[in-house]
Amino acid sequence: MLPAFFESMLQLITKTSTDLPPDVRAAMQAAMGAEPAGTRSSQALAVIAQNIDQAATGEGAICQDTGMPTFEIKTPTGANQIWMRERIHEAIAEATKRGKLRPNSVDSITGKNTGNNLGPGTPVIHFEQWHRDEIEVRLLLKGGGCENCNAQYSVPCELEHLGRADRTIDGVRTCILHAVWQAQGLGCSPGAVGVCIGGDRAAGYLHAKAQLFRTLDDVNPDSVLADLERQIMATVNGLGIGTMGFGGAVSLIGCKIGAINRLPASFFVSVAYDCWAFRRLGVKLDPATGAIREWMYRTPAPSVPMLEPAAAQGFPRTGSEKVLRAPIDEATIRSLKVGDVVLISGRMYTGRDAAHAYLMKNPPPVDLRGGVLYHCGPVVLKEGERYRMMAAGPTTSIREEPYEHEVLRRYGVRAVIGKGGMGAKTLAAMKETGAVYLNAIGGAAQFYARCIERVDGVSLLEFGVPEAMWHLEVKDFPAIVTMDSHGNSLHQEVEQASGRVLATMKG
Ligand code: SF4
Repeated sequence: MLPAFFESMLQLITKTSTDLPPDVRAAMQAAMGAEPAGTRSSQALAVIAQNIDQAATGEGAICQDTGMPTFEIKTPTGANQIWMRERIHEAIAEATKRGKLRPNSVDSITGKNTGNNLGPGTPVIHFEQWHRDEIEVRLLLKGGGCENCNAQYSVPCELEHLGRADRTIDGVRTCILHAVWQAQGLGCSPGAVGVCIGGDRAAGYLHAKAQLFRTLDDVNPDSVLADLERQIMATVNGLGIGTMGFGGAVSLIGCKIGAINRLPASFFVSVAYDCWAFRRLGVKLDPATGAIREWMYRTPAPSVPMLEPAAAQGFPRTGSEKVLRAPIDEATIRSLKVGDVVLISGRMYTGRDAAHAYLMKNPPPVDLRGGVLYHCGPVVLKEGERYRMMAAGPTTSIREEPYEHEVLRRYGVRAVIGKGGMGAKTLAAMKETGAVYLNAIGGAAQFYARCIERVDGVSLLEFGVPEAMWHLEVKDFPAIVTMDSHGNSLHQEVEQASGRVLATMKG
């Protein structure tokens, strides 16, 4: 039975996680060309470009959140889909063991991570039969940060800044603009959206996600939808959201829209947001052996690097960067202002959802006074008695908003690193206690893993690898002050400014 099928699936998973497809690379190259040198967005894009190259060269995960593996498979009639599903599960477990995927499957009742990316609902595998004598497998890895930015609108509805969205093509346009605006900073922009007009709620989301299997440079065969896609792309970048929500010229790299029929009473517009780490590949397989006949979305040749070999590596410095060494005193923190770029060296602790919930009821397992708390769920491999960081970019910080103000007040943390910013409670606590929020470049998991000199230990490992508190020694870890100890927030500024622009885009 298909002796090469398991190996083909392992190759597909590994390549998808580590090597961005050419259409996404081209869109990111165009974004780099559109942002003026020296801006925050251009610095962030330079880091992202290096990260993409580092991931491909070292076969490491592009982003530490390797997402929910979603397979779309077409098989000839008579193919044994049960057997294929079992081999895919084995390939997923093996890729996780090799550090190409992060253990991402969590029991929703107990909170326990299964450790191998397998469990009820994980991975997602959809089979379909066709009359061709060939197996086609396409895979999308879409992380939690951007999955949380998905949106579904039941039209007609009233939307902030935009007013009413009707059951018309213009109403659909209004919903898409709103979804992109809402995702700012959280979904690691510049991103892409897959959109479905119609369906029921479940089918709408499925069809929206299916649009992400189209290439960014294709043209919709439906002329009405093609027009709408063009319109969105022509206007949306005027929002000024920019890379990571830092403000800038490029907020979206693709908009792909599909439509399915609906019930007369329902009109859903479903939006699946994907980040710049848009990981999607496919393979066509020999139906007799399961061997790869052809790659989809890419050629078999090695990917063309994002940067010239001679291009400067590391964080693109302007000379005005502030150097910080942890633990950090209050006076140093108070001297920082929104917009400052910092390079951090010394001790840093990771901590995200489970760790924050733990800290509400228990004292910290480490001394956090003057410390740097990194919202990060890394990919880590154990090698003998030592741990190796395989991928370590920031996670979305707003999830910790209910807890962070308490953490700052109780435990004396001076710097919180993450992505997307935090809310009013955290901002107020930062002003009161003398702390800052530092926005790292979302998805730059390989780049940041290289800023980690060593792993000195781990606490709360019982919560699973992504949720544990890892004790890191870092060097020149770059981030941007986006919330300072004087009550300023770049996130609020960009949100308000882009909201004003959004209001001008009313139908
Ligand atoms: S790039 Fe950002 S949004 Fe995308 S998977 Fe990584 S952390 Fe999540």
